[in-house]
Amino acid sequence: MKVGNNIEIKVGDITTADVDVIVNAANEKMLGGGGVDGAIHRAAGPELLAACRKVTPVDGVRCPTGQARITPAGQLKAKFVIHTVGPQYHYHRHPEALLASCYRHSLDLALEHDCSTIAFPAISCGVYGYPLKEAADIACKVCHAEKYQGLEIVFYLFDQQIASVWQSVFGAQPG
Ligand code: ADP
Repeated sequence: MKVGNNIEIKVGDITTADVDVIVNAANEKMLGGGGVDGAIHRAAGPELLAACRKVTPVDGVRCPTGQARITPAGQLKAKFVIHTVGPQYHYHRHPEALLASCYRHSLDLALEHDCSTIAFPAISCGVYGYPLKEAADIACKVCHAEKYQGLEIVFYLFDQQIASVWQSVFGAQPG
């Protein structure tokens, strides 16, 4: 479903997305994990893990919460994977600022690497426990910023329940 000029909402597996860059809801170590992270690493193959290992860690952290890192995408159709680390809703003190930062950093990296299409999962909405409506509000606000209007943004949401929340939030936006 198209919501606005450059934003689309789909139900499905993000590893199948035919886009320039897929965003991964990673963890700070960036060496794979469960949920969407595990699915992306399985689909991309060992090249993705090798690319992640090349990102220099600081005290074991390759990507701090709220930031993003870009790597090649291994066997995926996409050219790149952007790994971003969402906040843990009940653990971090300002989860809304951190989640907005994940979206902003990811979109900025996509622009810096001349990507024109980007796919997002529902960052932090699985194991990290972010309430869907609050997460969708943040995603919606960031994605509508003027500077991202040249990007085609696709949300790949894992089931219809999540997609319905995204559709009601994004559908309520002008244009
Ligand atoms: P986080 O740790 O950031 O909460 P999760 O991977 O646990 O990340 O969940 C983030 C969202 O990704 C959840 O809504 C989950 O249902 C969804 N998800 C899991 N696997 C996939 C997949 N293959 N494609 C798209 N979304 C997925």
